[in-house]
Amino acid sequence: MVDVSVVVPCLDESEVIGDFHAAVVAALEPTGADFEICYVDDGSRDGTVERLRELARADARVRYTSFSRNFGKEPAMLAGMRMSRGASVVLMDADLQHPPELLPRMLELRQHGYDQVVAQRDRSGEGAVRKAFSRAYYRLVRRFMEVEIADGAGDFRLLSRRAVEAVLSLPESNRFSKGLFSWIGFDTVSFRYENVARAAGASKWGGRRLLNYGIDGLLSFNSRPLRLAVHTGLWLFLSALAYALWIVANALLNGVDTPGYATLITAIVGLSGVQLATLGVIGEYVGRIYHESKRRPHYVVRETERDAPGRPAAGR
Ligand code: UDP
Ligand code: MG
Repeated sequence: MVDVSVVVPCLDESEVIGDFHAAVVAALEPTGADFEICYVDDGSRDGTVERLRELARADARVRYTSFSRNFGKEPAMLAGMRMSRGASVVLMDADLQHPPELLPRMLELRQHGYDQVVAQRDRSGEGAVRKAFSRAYYRLVRRFMEVEIADGAGDFRLLSRRAVEAVLSLPESNRFSKGLFSWIGFDTVSFRYENVARAAGASKWGGRRLLNYGIDGLLSFNSRPLRLAVHTGLWLFLSALAYALWIVANALLNGVDTPGYATLITAIVGLSGVQLATLGVIGEYVGRIYHESKRRPHYVVRETERDAPGRPAAGR
């Protein structure tokens, strides 16, 4: 058992991983805490594993797991939490966007008894379009979700051992960590820091990936989209009924006059759109059930630090 485990998912981070490691060590050593750093290589193709092997050879506090292919950041965080042995676990990105200088502050807040310490970034330096989109998204999420998610409260957080065990006890295979962290509860404290740009390399989150992540977030925590589909259907049905009554009344009072072509097309197209969208929503849920029912493991491991040649015998 160590005091702190730092869990780091890495995809193609060979350019920054060395600087990252040095910065974390420099931030943690003065605190006097006993720590380990658990790197999870998420199927990188740029030599990140070689870097990790070197780090593990040079520093017995380094542990790593390398996946057989890219499984995504969520499985990587899960693997990291599973391998961690610390009384506290900090999740952070490898690209130095989560400033290691904040680590002592997080540990101190943990000392005050909080089970989750969240470092919440502001959105300074981000494009206006992206800012507007994420603001709208979080407004939507707040309205829909059964759990609370704050804007900018990403994955840079410290969890107590019992909070980690709680997250690990959740069995779902489609994991949306932001929701899971909120779902487990416990006393949570957050503080803000100024957004920093990536140290090197490129972000893996393009527009499409973000959109899918957003949909996952909305769907994995509630069944309200299904409810919305039902409501929309009901409202459309009621307005169609009212319109039908109006047509009948009109025909009875003013005689039959049937130039209804445009109305008909509009109604058909509108309704088909709603039906398709609703089917899509249902399909998403069915897909999720199918996915969960397969009970596949979240990832496949290729190697760990125990496979690294020339590693110094660890003291623990
Ligand atoms: N990451 C990962 N697997 C992925 C995508 C990203 O392990 O499939 C890691 C990545 O190496 C980084 C962190 O997750 O440490 C955040 O990724 P990134 O910096 O690309 O995201 P952004 O900061 O742009 O949201
Ligand atoms: Mg980043």
